[in-house]
This record gives sequence, C-alpha cells and structure tokens, in this order.
Amino acid sequence: KFSNPHRLGFGSSNPTGKIPLGLKRKGLRIVVTGGAGFVGSHLVDRLIARGDSVMVVDNFFTGRKENVMHHFGNPNFELIRHDVVEPLLLEVDQIYHLACPASPVHYKFNPVKTIISFFLFLFTIYLILLYKVVVVFLNGGFVTRQMCEVYGDPLQHPQKETYWGNVNPIGVRSCYDEGKRTAETLTMDYHRGAGVEVRIARIFNTYGPRMCIDDGRVVSNFVAQALRKEPLTVYGDGKQTRSFQYVSDLVEGLMRLMEGEHVGPFNLGNPGEFTMLELAEVVQETIDPNAKIEFRPNTEDDPHKRKPDISRAKELLGWEPKVSLRKGLPQMVSDFRQRIFGDHKEGSS
Ligand code: NAD
Ligand code: UDP
Repeated sequence: KFSNPHRLGFGSSNPTGKIPLGLKRKGLRIVVTGGAGFVGSHLVDRLIARGDSVMVVDNFFTGRKENVMHHFGNPNFELIRHDVVEPLLLEVDQIYHLACPASPVHYKFNPVKTIISFFLFLFTIYLILLYKVVVVFLNGGFVTRQMCEVYGDPLQHPQKETYWGNVNPIGVRSCYDEGKRTAETLTMDYHRGAGVEVRIARIFNTYGPRMCIDDGRVVSNFVAQALRKEPLTVYGDGKQTRSFQYVSDLVEGLMRLMEGEHVGPFNLGNPGEFTMLELAEVVQETIDPNAKIEFRPNTEDDPHKRKPDISRAKELLGWEPKVSLRKGLPQMVSDFRQRIFGDHKEGSS
C-alpha cells in the first residue's frame, strides 16, 4: 500500500520495477543507516551529488551532525535521529545498512547492543515481509555491510570470499565478528526465503577524513598522536598486518555493488598490506619524521594478518581501489589537523 511504482519514473509500463538497460537510475529515495558516521557520510555525499533523495538514520553514538551538516537545507536530504534496533516505517527504494559501532573501543563498550544492532534491523525487515506489511519498498536493493571480521583471525591469506573464517565465538571481539556473520546469514535467508533483493559487502579497514578522532582505531590513533606530538602506540610486536583502503574507493565499491546484479559477498578493500610498524613509518613520513614509537600490550584475539583477495569484485563489479595509503593519508591528515587545531597551519603534511 505504501510502495509507489511511479517513483522510479517507469510507471505501469514497467511492472517488474526493473530498470531498463542503458538507463541510469536517478532520483531514488535511499536510506543510509549510520549516515552521520565516517563511511556513511561520504556515501551520502556521493548519492546526493548523483541526484538521489537521502534519508540518514543515525543515533549519533559515534556519528556527528557535522559530517552531514553541509546538506542541511537541501530538500533532497533528511536526517532522522533513531536507533536502528527500533522499528521505523519508511518508504524507500534502497537501504545501505551501515549503522553499528565500528571501532573495537566502541563495539566492546556495549557488546550486547553491538550484536543486536547488526541483525535486529534485518529482523525487523523480515517481520515486515513475513506479515506482508509493506513499509520498506525494496525495489532497488539492500546493501548490508559486513566486515572482513567475518574471517576472524584468518588461516587463509589473502582472504577470498569463499573462506569461511576462523572466529572465536566467546571472545571479546565476538560481539562484532559473530554479529557480522549472523547478519550475513539473515541477509541470505531473506534473499532465499522472502525474495528480498540483497547485496553483501565485506569491508576491510578503511580510513579517511571524518573518522572519529579518538575512536582507538590504528590509523586515527597514529595520525592524531603524530599531530599532537605524542608517541605512536604500537600494540604487540607491530608485525600484525592490515590492508588500508581510502574511503572514496569503498564508497565507489558499495555503489557499484548496489547498482550491479550480483548479491555477493564481495570483499571491498585495498590489497596493499602493511605491518603496524610499516604503517607507523608512513605516518612518520607524512606528518613527523621524529614521532616516537611506544609499544603496548596487544588486545585479545587480535587477527594476525588481513588482506583481501579482490578478484571477484574486479571481475564482476569492475571495481578496484585507486588510492594508495601514501596518497590517501595526507587527505586525512589535513582533516584531522583542522579538527584538532582548528586550522591548517600546525605541523606539515
Ligand atoms: P562510524 O562509527 O563512523 O559510523 C557508524 C555510524 O552508525 C555512526 O554514525 C553511529 O552513530 C551510527 N550508529 C551506531 N549504532 C547505531 C544504532 N544502533 N542506530 C543508529 N545508528 C547507529 O564507523 P564507520 O567506520 O563509518 O563504519 C560504518 C560501517 O562500516 C560500520 O557498520 C562498520 O562496521 C563498517 N566497517 C567499517 C570499517 C572501517 O574501517 N571504517 C571496516 C569494516 C566495516
Ligand atoms: N593497533 C595498534 N595501535 C593502536 C591501535 C591499534 O597497533 O593504537 C593495532 C591493533 O592491535 C590491530 C591493528 O592495529 O592489530 C588494527 O586495529 P584497528 O582497531 O584499527 O582495527 P581492527 O583490529 O578492527 O582491524
């Protein structure tokens, strides 16, 4: 009763709701949960620029109004303060589900809430479909972002989408890792059982402007520490690896995934792999060659290695990252410098 087949502009002559080949989809109504956060706000910028109407649903746990304030006053933009674990009635074409605390510090703060925020939102949609109360018009698609955390502390390297992972189900990280895994299960079950059009992205470590400054993640920690002339805190021996993706590459991948016809899962990450000591060196080169390194004990269940195999996304989405760590980091540094010092003059980039 709420869905409007005319909204896509094809009317009843297009009863399937499918977009004819060759026509670019524009003017969709899109929900971005977690859209006031780091990744979500960059996605919102791209969608608005494309001509879509965007509704951001965010409870501001880690997100900030400042990340989307430049859209205030734009009739194509709406911001709703709402917790995704509670039902919300909306008529939309696509949903990008990004809401969830992303840094270990934040997701361990309330682990039960963390695991719930992954799948309760999906569960609500399932109930809606089950009871045939059409409040979510899933014409376009539904991207859930999972993290490479579905792989846990991987025994396969690099990780392909076919790898099932190695997760400690009772560890301190499991609220996140198992939450992501459960969400993937539910997403596929809606797809198979209820015919919901879905897409699944497995996102690897991503950095860029608008990251939370003190969220405890390694890139934000090192950049903020170097700018504040504090030592870079390397956990453990610093030989563990991660692969760092610049945020614009991720947003491009998410949009290609949504617009494409493949469900996934797709790894979206930059295969350039760095040890934490190597990352510290890049931060020193970029901000302050004299920045000191301080070793701290590592956290429990920390994955030893992480690097995406992105062959599937290359082949089926025509996507690969374009921005190397050395190119992307200075963009983040100038944003952090401005937010920490309020101007561009302190330090160098
Ligand atoms: P972020 O913390 O900046 O953004 C998360 C947003 O979700 C915030 O705006 C927060 O306020 C909101 N949020 C959290 N819980 C919510 C709830 N219950 N209801 C409504 N809003 C809620 O983090 P991010 O880095 O932008 O991450 C976005 C998504 O991408 C997360 O789901 C994260 O797991 C995933 N991801 C991020 C990375 C990365 O390295 N940045 C890597 C893999 C996956
Ligand atoms: N890490 C570090 N110093 C910090 C914060 C994190 O050496 O100040 C390490 C952490 O132990 C992990 C890696 O950096 O091995 C990535 O941690 P992050 O929290 O950024 O992401 P995730 O572990 O979720 O990949």
